[in-house]
Amino acid sequence: MRIGFGTDIHAFGPGDSVVIAGVRLPHSRGVRAHSDGDVALHALCDALLGAAGLGDIGMHFPDTDPKWKGADSRELTRHVVALLAARGYVVANADLTILAESPRIGRHRDEMRRTVARLLAVEDNQVNIKATTTEGLGFIGRGEGLAAQAVVLLQRHAPR
Ligand code: MG
Repeated sequence: MRIGFGTDIHAFGPGDSVVIAGVRLPHSRGVRAHSDGDVALHALCDALLGAAGLGDIGMHFPDTDPKWKGADSRELTRHVVALLAARGYVVANADLTILAESPRIGRHRDEMRRTVARLLAVEDNQVNIKATTTEGLGFIGRGEGLAAQAVVLLQRHAPR
């Protein structure tokens, strides 16, 4: 078994929606990012890469590479999951925390969980989505941006 941790932060910017854990939510602002700015999937990808000892998301998807401009982070996640599968790893479970004053995550939580589980090719009960505000403190509290953290456990493919 191998454990990995990931974190990501993005600033809000012009726009009318944000993508979190593969789900697009209407919002008064967008997110400044080279890709779609999905903090939850970026944190998750970093956790997955970290657990496998494969560096970080910036090494695999450099933001200087036009190929990843506006990229759908679900594609990045699928790419990372395939890298891990090629090395004999599958996800045992993933636990994600989204830190944001808004948008509120609650009623989108189940869809996020299903979306992440599908990307990881696991059952819904192997994924957990948590959300918190920062009680008005710091850049998140001031509504300048949002963040996410992820922990994953990898296990070896069951022997055949
Ligand atoms: Mg990011």
